[in-house]
Amino acid sequence: MPISGARVLIDLGHLRTNVATIAHRTGVPLLAVVKADAYGLGIEQVTDAIRDLVAGWCVFRLDEAITGRLYERTGKRTLALGPAEPQRVVHYQQHRVTPSVATVEAARALRIVEPALNVDLGMQRFACPPDQVEAVLSAGDCHEAFAHATRPEQAQQLKCMLGGRGLMLHAAGSSLLEYPEAWLGAVRPGLAMYVGCVRVTAPLIEVRDSAGPTGYSGFRGRRHGVILVGYSNGLRKGPCLINGTPSRILEVGMQSAYVDLSDISARPGDEVLLLGDTLWVPDIAREWQTSPQEVLVNLVRSGPREYVG
Ligand SMILES: *Cc1c(COP(=O)(O)O)cnc(C)c1O
Repeated sequence: MPISGARVLIDLGHLRTNVATIAHRTGVPLLAVVKADAYGLGIEQVTDAIRDLVAGWCVFRLDEAITGRLYERTGKRTLALGPAEPQRVVHYQQHRVTPSVATVEAARALRIVEPALNVDLGMQRFACPPDQVEAVLSAGDCHEAFAHATRPEQAQQLKCMLGGRGLMLHAAGSSLLEYPEAWLGAVRPGLAMYVGCVRVTAPLIEVRDSAGPTGYSGFRGRRHGVILVGYSNGLRKGPCLINGTPSRILEVGMQSAYVDLSDISARPGDEVLLLGDTLWVPDIAREWQTSPQEVLVNLVRSGPREYVG
């Protein structure tokens, strides 16, 4: 048997529960964000698991919807959140993908596929400045408008700007699900659907009493273990759990890492938990000083995926 690195377990039953809970709580159509291969969980498996619970999908690029065969497999449309590709009208049409437009030229070129207007309320990238909203709306004959909002006030701003005209409006990703005033006509969660669905472990392949300064950095401890997951697999220094006890990833190499066993009794073959159970992405994100989304996509890609549920 080959020596093993990270093992990534994805619980599709838990994913369904999360999505059903969000849909029930908000009571508005749910556009599931499955960009970047469903945050690394696997776009085909994820969309198969929740297709009956959602109104549609969001990806970043048109090609993600085509490669994932989203319409063909699920019968639901996709909104492409990133910059529009005005020359590809036929592809949008064939694969039931709604482009997001931010300029009059793009809106005019894509009018036949009913583009959605992407309103810039602060992100200042591939979206339409408020003073051009009317021109783009009429050039594209848009029936849908959205904003990438980070605060509930921005959702209200979108509603003030475009409400009461029969447009489908949406603004809320995961961080705004707590704010009913941000839900508008639909919600667009990514991360919140995937919370608690991923478990990443790696077995200890060595356990040693430390003999002086160890590794590249010369860290000091009484005992350490080694796992075959490194920075090339997306791992960084930070928390982990070993046999239920909190511990630390002390140093990370290209394809292996040291874990602290100074106060833990462990043997080769015991599992080091890198993500899951009581160790969830926000805890790790705080230590990595990055977003929970980045932690998730890094760790979910650290080894071969297996699915349950
Ligand atoms: C990625 C993305 C989302 C989902 O973000 P989460 O914070 O992961 O829920 C929603 N809207 C837009 C425009 C996005 O790009």
